[in-house]
Amino acid sequence: MIPFSGNPLDRASEKRTDSAWLAARKTDPNSHVLPMWRLMPFILGPEKATGPLEAGFLRPGLCEALAGPDAPMVLLGLEKGNALWALDISAARDPANEGPLAGLGHFREMRAAAMGGGLPEKDIAILGQAKAMIDWHRRHGFCANCGARTEMQDAGYRRHCASCKSDHFPRTDPVVIMLATHGDACLVGRGKQFPRGMYSALAGFVEPGETIEEAVRRELMEEAGVKTGNVTYYATQPWPFPSSLMIGCFAEAESRDVTVDQNELAEAIWLEKDKARALISGTPIDGMFVPPKVAIAHHLIRAWAEM
Ligand SMILES: [Zn+2]
Repeated sequence: MIPFSGNPLDRASEKRTDSAWLAARKTDPNSHVLPMWRLMPFILGPEKATGPLEAGFLRPGLCEALAGPDAPMVLLGLEKGNALWALDISAARDPANEGPLAGLGHFREMRAAAMGGGLPEKDIAILGQAKAMIDWHRRHGFCANCGARTEMQDAGYRRHCASCKSDHFPRTDPVVIMLATHGDACLVGRGKQFPRGMYSALAGFVEPGETIEEAVRRELMEEAGVKTGNVTYYATQPWPFPSSLMIGCFAEAESRDVTVDQNELAEAIWLEKDKARALISGTPIDGMFVPPKVAIAHHLIRAWAEM
């Protein structure tokens, strides 16, 4: 499965406006609360532990006092009928080492938590949802329309501006990530910020007024000068950095001519299928490697290499 996908929760959107139900679920002993500290989810157990990890969902009442007065507490959804919440406790100074959470676990950067391999796939998806939601609230305390302070509504799925009456909703930004192919080769590029030797599928934000297919063709032309025709969809991946939806596609190139935009990429090359198979299996070739399994690019390259 592609990491961050497969979220099993019932999002219970019909309950988000039921204030009596929400208030009862906040103290329901069967509910669970995930503390998020400075955008890092709580993970049970010591930081250096090896082996399986467990998301740090706690019984209600344990961590609420650590949250600031307007800290968002977001309903993630229901698991077997029990409510799961995410609570921003960024106001706390060092909650893993002092106060009610001391000794129970640690906070781990989201990307590292997803890459580490110790968390179940469903937990990675739920923590990704929590990260994207809390991150959005932290960046949307003020109205984009009039600048006044906004307040959280609907268990976290709306922010309302009392001054101009605007409503603001959590955003997901669509990003196309695509593998151009030509015969037995696919196009991979090296971004200027990439670790040395890493090559990946090209990617870019979908712009207003554009279809997915148009964005795929435009990005490949802009970044690599590669003209493509038929575009096919592969899969999507929620990517909570801060809140994107990665839309994985294949695109058929008309030729192998490449003209790299030096502002966007350091290099773009055609990778033969046998080499792609080796790189996906973890065998570096001439210092070259592809992104890890946490990235949809890895799955795109693998799917094409195994076709
Ligand atoms: Zn406003």
